[in-house]
Amino acid sequence: MPIRVTVWNEFRHEKSSEYVKKVYPDGIQNTLKAAVEKLLGSEVSVRTATLDEPEHGLTDEVLNNTDVLFWWGHMAHQEVKDEIAAKVAQRVLAGMGLIVLHSGHHSKPFRLLMGTSGHLKWREAGEIERLWVVSPGHPITVGMEKDYIELPHEEMYGEQFDIPTPDELVFISWFEGGEVFRSGCVWKRGAGKVFYFRPGHESYPTYHNPEIQRVLANAVKYVAPVGGVPNRTNSPQITDPIAPISKRD
Ligand code: ZN
Repeated sequence: MPIRVTVWNEFRHEKSSEYVKKVYPDGIQNTLKAAVEKLLGSEVSVRTATLDEPEHGLTDEVLNNTDVLFWWGHMAHQEVKDEIAAKVAQRVLAGMGLIVLHSGHHSKPFRLLMGTSGHLKWREAGEIERLWVVSPGHPITVGMEKDYIELPHEEMYGEQFDIPTPDELVFISWFEGGEVFRSGCVWKRGAGKVFYFRPGHESYPTYHNPEIQRVLANAVKYVAPVGGVPNRTNSPQITDPIAPISKRD
């Protein structure tokens, strides 16, 4: 049985910015879908979901048939309904893998699962980012030819990053401006795994980069629940309220 992947994207920048539309003409979600399908073939079945669909495209039917969910959001985190965010977090506790990308550090599902603000430093100046592997041999780094990935232009995210100490730290990024950042982090939550992966600002072609695509495909396999999400009725419950975001990071 293939790993059932759903790629969720807010899908707003690609409609509102001519520049972003050129980088991702079909939306970030379809670029990610094509990359995962190209690298994992029959090991996966991939669909997409976006904010403006009914229930943000994440109906019970979709979530109950998702083993791994990608999450890319930025300008509209507050438009994500609390009950949908809670269902996503709940599904992670039951065993679903969650891959939170870039500005998803401020998304409702991520903050629910982390219990922290996700705040960080940022600067949009198209700087070089070098993502160093700090966990050699980690399954998420399989197939990497070097011990780092270099992106010629990215947005800078810097420490301090308000997250719980990761269970596994896979990448630390260095930026041209001098900052560093924990850019590839894994946490276990309930029966599920969460992978946060930093790169992917909408105005740079980061998700077209083969090395980044390789990491994301590896991450799908790594966070996927072995044998699917188990049918359990005693998963821990998400109950915490989500505080509003006070500033854009
Ligand atoms: Zn960004």
